Amino acid sequence: MNAAEQVYTIPVVFHVIYVTAAQNVSDATIAAQMNRLNLDWRKQNSDTTNILSGFNAIAADTKIQFELAKIDPNGNCTNGIDRIYSHKTYLGSDQSKLNPWPKDKYLNVWVVDNIPSGTSGGITLGYAYFPSATQYAPYSNWDGIIMIYSTCNGSSRTLTHEAGHWLNLNHVWGGGEINVACGDDGVTDTPETKGHFSTCPSIDSSCAPGVLQNINNYMDYSSCTYMFTYGQKDRVRAALESSMSQRNNLWSAANLAATGITPAGQLVLLKQTLQLTEISFAVEVQLHIQEQLH
Ligand SMILES: [Zn+2]
Repeated sequence: MNAAEQVYTIPVVFHVIYVTAAQNVSDATIAAQMNRLNLDWRKQNSDTTNILSGFNAIAADTKIQFELAKIDPNGNCTNGIDRIYSHKTYLGSDQSKLNPWPKDKYLNVWVVDNIPSGTSGGITLGYAYFPSATQYAPYSNWDGIIMIYSTCNGSSRTLTHEAGHWLNLNHVWGGGEINVACGDDGVTDTPETKGHFSTCPSIDSSCAPGVLQNINNYMDYSSCTYMFTYGQKDRVRAALESSMSQRNNLWSAANLAATGITPAGQLVLLKQTLQLTEISFAVEVQLHIQEQLH
């Protein structure tokens, strides 16, 4: 299989930091949020039909997908949702990132009440660090995505966007403040832009005559984001294939088995140690199927 075609699956844990019932988002809501994340990253979102012509040809399926973990760091069963009653939900900072699971095995997502916006104004819906920023303590304990509960649902693109940062994507206008100067994100097929904040002009070529800006990109702040580009796909996959912040361990066969994403690792283990005294029913069935295939 061509390396570019391999689908990478990333184990995920949600840490819901809550005090009120509303902050304690339900399992169903988190499932809907995960579905939204996967639809967007696999280009299965129905609103790709709204992408401005000229860009639909470079809208990419990243072939990266996300799945709630089924085994926790202690080897116990989990639904991938960790609920913690704590007033730190109101801090909305790295101090709210309670009980991180090992960053080389899971994408940690924390859901909190709010995130202070500082002097920039507006509402901060979430944030994430680039892989290069979370290699060493204390930042290594804060690797992952933090988001506010009101944007954790089946329609918001906050998690889609933040997962881009977590995999080394910058904003399409570059690193500075939005709507100030035309800037570049280091990705060749996303044109220079100032970015768009909660707007959706049908045509914007203000940064270069005749060059339409990619207003539909998930890494813009526009109100009409529906796509990543092939250039961004290359960049996020490079981040996942790099040892930077241990991203390349997340999708390894050994880790997918350790986190319960796939039983394949158990199958291999079973073949190697046939004298195992305890065999779960599920694994037994898998082995049986495997034998029938031979
Ligand atoms: Zn951002």
